[in-house]
Amino acid sequence: MAKSVEHRSKPNFFDIDFEKAPFIAIWEVTRACDLRCVHCRAEAIPNRDERELTKEQGFALIDELRKFSDTAPPLFVITGGDPLKSPYTMDYIKYADSIGLRVAVTPSATGLLTREAIHEMKQNGLTRMAISLDGSTAEIHDNFRRQPGSYDHTIRAIKDAQAEGLTVQINTTISRWNMNDIDNLCELMQKLGLTLWAAFFLVPTGRGEETDEISPEQYEQALNKLYETARKADFDLKTTAAPHYRRVVLQHQRSEGRSNDSGKYLRPRKEGGGPEDRKTDGPPAWVLRDMKPGGWSRGDAIGRAGRGVNDGNGFIFIDHVGEVYPSGFLPLKCGNVKEKSIVEIYRNNPHLKAMRDFSRLKGKCWACDYRDVCGGARSRAFAVTGDYLASEPYCTYVPPALEHVQGVNWLAPDMLIKDVRQHMKPEDIKQFEKSE
Ligand code: SF4
Repeated sequence: MAKSVEHRSKPNFFDIDFEKAPFIAIWEVTRACDLRCVHCRAEAIPNRDERELTKEQGFALIDELRKFSDTAPPLFVITGGDPLKSPYTMDYIKYADSIGLRVAVTPSATGLLTREAIHEMKQNGLTRMAISLDGSTAEIHDNFRRQPGSYDHTIRAIKDAQAEGLTVQINTTISRWNMNDIDNLCELMQKLGLTLWAAFFLVPTGRGEETDEISPEQYEQALNKLYETARKADFDLKTTAAPHYRRVVLQHQRSEGRSNDSGKYLRPRKEGGGPEDRKTDGPPAWVLRDMKPGGWSRGDAIGRAGRGVNDGNGFIFIDHVGEVYPSGFLPLKCGNVKEKSIVEIYRNNPHLKAMRDFSRLKGKCWACDYRDVCGGARSRAFAVTGDYLASEPYCTYVPPALEHVQGVNWLAPDMLIKDVRQHMKPEDIKQFEKSE
């Protein structure tokens, strides 16, 4: 009989110091998958790669992940490819659960995802199943997945998982393929009884093409629609590769008079404030006000991070051969778990440390009053400019410290990597630098 999530004490996510531990660690257990989706990050292949981590190396990785923290170890997500193409996934779930990790799995909606497989995962200690749904109709979703019947299979798997007592997260990749379907998707999500809707914004990597991206203006529209949905829904909503959603939430909260934010989490911070005050002042307003009561996604122990997760900052990704990346969308190798502990890599790799230091950002992200809650998607900055510290290329917001500058396109390629201090007033520069 599987242990329920209550056998673990609920970690205090607001205590997690992202310099020391990620909130979420995702392991691409295999790249094999029977689908060949249009946007596939992993560029999945039909059969398992013979260089995949062995079962023993997989167990060793899980042991290392547990060492990140006694009290708040990372959420452990087993992804693919299709995790069900690995013969060891059931064992990994069971082992990770037995040593106190919260485990989620992201299976593909194929013939392998049967009611029996879902039952076995639940019995082995799975906490949550996350499954992709990219269109509100079979036609849109199946075109995207290049698989007739995938939509029906997905809906059936969601119901099976719920019948087995699992909570369900739905992942949706927002791109030009479904931009016009967002309203319908929002409505469908309300009906599906999910726990979390994770909206992924396409990053041009893997099979995702830059031409599949929506425009910066459409980003703004989509993020605002998601906010309206989140306000009404009884599920949580998060974005991946669009941290500026947090800026949109805060802007709404303020304009709706729902924010009495002290300003601690917005720049410029209080006199003398610095990185330390980010770590110790407790949960930021955007987390508390737009998260469901108690800060827990309904019915499981997954919860939400107490601060903004970003590539390499509260987030780490391990691929099928053990290479470590800031995220699945940022193809910058930071080490290999066959040679070094994931704990050591996460804490000390210079690229990951740089990504966690927002004072190193370039372009208008550096001068942004929302920098510490957002920071822009490092993966998209890298994909578009080759520089992971460049400004987010798909955010239309112009920070107050740059509003007086006329005739500059802040999203032009050269401006994304520019030091914008030359455009700023000396008093604003001083204020920003003081709080770093
Ligand atoms: S300018 Fe950068 S930091 Fe500011 S909201 Fe946009 S992406 Fe986020």
